[in-house]
Amino acid sequence: MFPAFSLHYSRLPERFYERFNPEPVRLPQLIAFNRPLAEELGFDLAALPSREELARYFAGNAVPPGAEPVAQAYAGHQFGGFVPRLGDGRAVLLGEVVDRHGRLRDIQLKGAGRTPSSRGGDGRAPLGPVLREYLVSEAMHAMGIPTTRSLAAVTTGEPVYRETVLPGGVLTRVAASHIRIGTFEYFAARGDVEGLRLLADHVIERHYPQLAGLAGGERYLTLLAAVLERQAALVARWMGVGFIHGVMNTDNTAISGETIDYGPCAFMEAYDPRTVFSSIDQSGRYAYGNQPGIAVWNLARLAEALLPLFDADEQCAIEQATEVIERFAGRYQAEWLAVMRAKLGLAHEHEADGELIEALLQALYSGRADFTLSFRRLADCAASPSADQALLEQFRVSDAIQAWLPRWRERLAAEEQPLEAAAARMRAVNPLYIPRNHLVEQAITAAVEEDDFKPFETLQAVLARPFEEQPGYERYAQPAAPHERVVRTFCGT
Ligand code: AMP
Ligand code: MG
Repeated sequence: MFPAFSLHYSRLPERFYERFNPEPVRLPQLIAFNRPLAEELGFDLAALPSREELARYFAGNAVPPGAEPVAQAYAGHQFGGFVPRLGDGRAVLLGEVVDRHGRLRDIQLKGAGRTPSSRGGDGRAPLGPVLREYLVSEAMHAMGIPTTRSLAAVTTGEPVYRETVLPGGVLTRVAASHIRIGTFEYFAARGDVEGLRLLADHVIERHYPQLAGLAGGERYLTLLAAVLERQAALVARWMGVGFIHGVMNTDNTAISGETIDYGPCAFMEAYDPRTVFSSIDQSGRYAYGNQPGIAVWNLARLAEALLPLFDADEQCAIEQATEVIERFAGRYQAEWLAVMRAKLGLAHEHEADGELIEALLQALYSGRADFTLSFRRLADCAASPSADQALLEQFRVSDAIQAWLPRWRERLAAEEQPLEAAAARMRAVNPLYIPRNHLVEQAITAAVEEDDFKPFETLQAVLARPFEEQPGYERYAQPAAPHERVVRTFCGT
């Protein structure tokens, strides 16, 4: 049933992981199975077993042939403080498969029971966070943002004890790999330079094959630069859709450049760079507007971990690493400008674009306007001034946006292209449907409290086509009404 495993990570030395089998659960029940992703991974959809059988695999009650389950070792900076040993405390990597495009993909069960890294934890995941990760990761993918994917979700038939008693779930996660900045920090913290080199070479082979021909310090400095480029691109994409990761710790930063670990993540509604939802982020460290700064902070931790591979002379290594890290600001700015230009329908670059964009953001801020809907309405305005009214309705105070619109129209005119084409391009990058926090919350509540998975399924179907207007689903495009508004999100670990 499973495609053939092609094991890579578990072929690394023993100190990279701990072997362990998922702990079986009492009554596994399949609640979601991602057929398009399964197809892409090489599952034979025509020969799938029963739902009961699928549930057993995705709960970890049955281990597919060829898999060699391991819990991966990693460390990490959490909220700025270093923890030398984290590791998979509730996740198990079954192994890798080669997908239909020839790419290696990890298949991991999250919530699969206690591992040697569980410390005080129970190794389990409540159903709510499983559904949240499923919904949001798949929505990110549909918006074209690099991310881990969700292949399946099951309920376990077992309670999970948190502040209250909750139903348990297991998520099957698919990733280019689960190697994190924290994986490098794990070896660096142990002074294990050989391990560091093996890991870096594994990462180059897997994610950055274009570096294969490089040798010596240059090889690893270029790796740092390549990881930096992907992080800059990724965070710029997040900023473009109002995504707030919520726990940008180094152990939640994938080296592949995919978004990973959807915990207290959320989407900003009214534009405000200080927006924070996570209950554990009291200082706003991971606020929307801080994300680029945190990304480079995390990359600096990666650079520190890699120092011994750059140069035998530490001072030299630091100088070279610093030079690479300093590229982030320029790189991020370029990526962000590209994202924002596209959102505004601008195909060409003009020097004053940065200012134009900042002025729009200022107008969104002063008008308390919904970030997502404002850009979507703006697409309509590109095609016709008669759409302005619908845009202005997003704003509580509209002076700034009214002053801004003619500036933008003048800039659009300089593109010398049909306005309809600009509008169509804008609609292809400005989502109408995002996983709004209250919708996600409603879907989770119905599933957890009433065993009703219909809202989860409907929301998932709507979010699979974020850029297409879906008649009858207007409410899914709307910001939360005051009584629906979610102000806090939780990790749920
Ligand atoms: P997270 O907040 O999910 O990124 O997890 C941070 C660390 O805590 C990782 O090492 C996890 O494996 C571990 N962890 C989170 N939840 C649990 C749990 N329920 N049981 C054991 N370990 C956990
Ligand atoms: Mg994590």
